[in-house]
Amino acid sequence: MRTAARIRPKNKVELAKMRESGRIVGEILAAVTAMIKPGVTPLELDEFAEGHIRGRGAKPSFKGYHGFPKSLCISVNEEVVHGIPGRRPLVDGDVVTVDCGAILDGWHGDAARTYAVGAVEPESLELLRVCEGALMAGVAEMRPSRKLGDVSRAVEAFVKRESSFSVVRQYVGHGIGRALHEEPQVPNYYEPGFPFSELVLEVGHVFAIEPMVNAGTHDVRVLDDLWTVVTADGRRSAHFEHTVAVTEDGPQLLTLP
Ligand code: MG
Ligand code: MG
Repeated sequence: MRTAARIRPKNKVELAKMRESGRIVGEILAAVTAMIKPGVTPLELDEFAEGHIRGRGAKPSFKGYHGFPKSLCISVNEEVVHGIPGRRPLVDGDVVTVDCGAILDGWHGDAARTYAVGAVEPESLELLRVCEGALMAGVAEMRPSRKLGDVSRAVEAFVKRESSFSVVRQYVGHGIGRALHEEPQVPNYYEPGFPFSELVLEVGHVFAIEPMVNAGTHDVRVLDDLWTVVTADGRRSAHFEHTVAVTEDGPQLLTLP
């Protein structure tokens, strides 16, 4: 039987560095809030983000990652994650996910949020509310002596309690630090026997918690560009993410401005 390997916690110096890279990511997602409107293109958002990241002496985590061509992942409507920013303007009623990563002094930050463009129909607003609530329900479990499975269970339970939406299973959260994606995987659903579900959380553990919630089926597929993940049924999807540290005082969001 496999037992979960220990995940090395970050020390105080490392956490301070991750707070700095996380802050840059948080600044971008906050600034994007004011930029999201009908007519703006994902490419314009990407150019803004790359300029801001480089202006702060950091580098985009995503650009060149397994060949990804841009600094942000931007996913519109039925796109779940990993959309490539392009020139098609956002239109009134869209929902758009901006996922941003930055590396500063060797340490990564990673966060995402889904924004409403103009006047959005009620189901989509509800989708955003439920997905962000699920993220925060998971974050609340990021405390010493909780188990990783408690985080997964809390995310899934929130979505089930609040809605008939579904949690994406094929993409998960992750450890983060000197690498953008480290062990453990952090699923947004609970399954007994998942490799790290029994991992006991320690002060200094830093994980990217990132539920993706679909209006319809949880099934997804990848488009011909080999990046963009869309819902199998064409209904909409939302995605919220923070890089979160376990501290003595409870969870700390590192990706805030
Ligand atoms: Mg991300
Ligand atoms: Mg991530």
